Amino acid sequence: MTDLANQLETDSSIYKTLLESTKAIPWRIDWKTLQFTYIGPQIEALLGWTPDSWKTVDDWATRMHPEDRDYVVNFCVSQSQAGTDHEADYRALTKDGDYVWIRDVVHVVRKGEEVEALIGFMFDISERKQTEEKLLALQKELEELSFKDGLTGVANRRMFDSIIEVEWSNAQRNHQPLSVVLLDIDYFKQYNDHYGHLGGDDCLKRVGQVLSRAATRSRDFVARFGGEEFVLVLPETDRAAAMTVAERCRQLLLDEHIEHQQSQVGPHLTISLGVGTLIPTAHSQPSAFIAEVDKLLYKAKQKGRNRVEQNKAEE
Ligand code: GH3
Ligand code: MG
Ligand code: MG
Repeated sequence: MTDLANQLETDSSIYKTLLESTKAIPWRIDWKTLQFTYIGPQIEALLGWTPDSWKTVDDWATRMHPEDRDYVVNFCVSQSQAGTDHEADYRALTKDGDYVWIRDVVHVVRKGEEVEALIGFMFDISERKQTEEKLLALQKELEELSFKDGLTGVANRRMFDSIIEVEWSNAQRNHQPLSVVLLDIDYFKQYNDHYGHLGGDDCLKRVGQVLSRAATRSRDFVARFGGEEFVLVLPETDRAAAMTVAERCRQLLLDEHIEHQQSQVGPHLTISLGVGTLIPTAHSQPSAFIAEVDKLLYKAKQKGRNRVEQNKAEE
């Protein structure tokens, strides 16, 4: 036998010394009274409450965060009644009024069929919780970033690709019309040449804001399609309603009076738009539909810009 094992056999106080020198804080609760009968002295360094105060406090659950109390106590009691060892994370109250994240690992001690006591260890998991919270915040930020266009703040092309798939299937299943508006800024090369690339960037941001205002229904969706092209997805929207939204986009942008000295249309910034509406069938594809709407946009350019071109009504 090793020296330590030898000593443990002959001197039980070594157990106590070992228990009370670990980072994990040992404790024992009597099942009948639900009172602490023992808690390691380490608890005082962590939470500020003396070990004796744990044995005399009326209800130690008051030393938990109010939001965690009911859940943790109910969970631990039901697990203990079933004789199941368990773990629970919660915020413990410090004597100074702060909270520390704790993980309690609980072992149920039974005498025959009866539960006699609970023994366990408390672990300080505040660092782990902080890391978890930081990771969650980062993940959320990343998710937002990965679906958002960095310049204009509207959704990006990737998000559009996902949304059109979802709305396409919805429309097909429910036999509802789906409309798409594709638009492109008129003479934007000249805008950049005249006002500089940063001026062009500011202009794109304003266009993004105007389009977000033009799409008013909750499921209407606006994205930057690429460069100075934007796209709107309008679920459950027929030809007439889609035309209204497209015209509203064109008009709201005109109302902004964004100066464009080099435009051959007029003194202010304008856009050209293509609008398509269909009820998707099993044979139709989103990509073919978008290509069709792109052709309509091209037609609007050819016809003189600052206008909307719409597809023909289906037979
Ligand atoms: P048209 O009326 O036929 O659309 O003429 P246009 O000059 O707008 O032609 P086109 O659509 O081909 O021009 C695209 C221009 O948009 C060229 C490109 O430099 C500019 N552009 C694309 N992305 C950005 C961007 O992120 N910022 C800025 N400032 N300009 C961009
Ligand atoms: Mg373009
Ligand atoms: Mg353009």
